[in-house]
Amino acid sequence: MISMKSVQKHFGALHVLRDIDLEVPTGQVVMVLGPSGSGKSTLCRTINRLEPIDSGTITIDGKELPAEGRALAALRADVGMVFQSFNLFAHKTILENVMLAPMKVRKKNKADAKAKALELLDRVGIANQADKYPAQLSGGQQQRVAIARALAMNPKVMLFDEPTSALDPEMVNEVLDVMVGLAKEGMTMLVVTHEMGFARKAADRIIFMADGVVVEDSTPDSFFTAPKSDRAKDFLSKIL
Ligand code: ATP
Ligand code: MG
Repeated sequence: MISMKSVQKHFGALHVLRDIDLEVPTGQVVMVLGPSGSGKSTLCRTINRLEPIDSGTITIDGKELPAEGRALAALRADVGMVFQSFNLFAHKTILENVMLAPMKVRKKNKADAKAKALELLDRVGIANQADKYPAQLSGGQQQRVAIARALAMNPKVMLFDEPTSALDPEMVNEVLDVMVGLAKEGMTMLVVTHEMGFARKAADRIIFMADGVVVEDSTPDSFFTAPKSDRAKDFLSKIL
């Protein structure tokens, strides 16, 4: 479970997260929607302390995020994150990309790491690409490797920040399908997305952000059919 309480974050004079209270219970899929610049990525990045917060608390399964050091590394290992860009290691094969962190951080032996990596690559539908290098794969395939790499650490929660927005349209669904599968298996997920059809179908809950504030927190059905705030109505009228 992810829990944020009274979280404040500034970038200089800009107040980017304004008193955020947000809980993502274990097994829930929460999707974060909102206009550009509303603080969605920053919210995501504070959860594993890629961005430090000014005040408030963030806990993962009851443990507060340590500021630095080994404890932070350990906690980060429990939080899988997938970004818009895939950030795979270009000079390592797909298989090596997925094996690396479990061996380095979890101290898994090579045989175990390999078996797990192959299982995950199979699960995201690219086991047959294991010996290729990232540049030899399509964007959609690379993003699925990035998801497999995050899952290889056995994370407690997964964070996704617009994982499909850099992809060609025909590759979007293959990545969304993997995420839908994960959601069905009960993974705890916080997903920033602009894919409204996907959000409506796969989210347990929708968080709508504007100007650093959680403006709405509702079910997909009520958000998409009866948004309460003018900000959300305006947002939906522009994109649907
Ligand atoms: P988008 O939909 O475009 O990805 P977002 O909701 O993810 O937008 P954020 O990236 O969280 O928005 O940015 C929120 C605000 O904070 C923006 O005004 C942005 O310019 C600003 N910001 C983000 N990162 C930094 C930074 N490292 N330094 C200064 N300002 C930043
Ligand atoms: Mg963003």
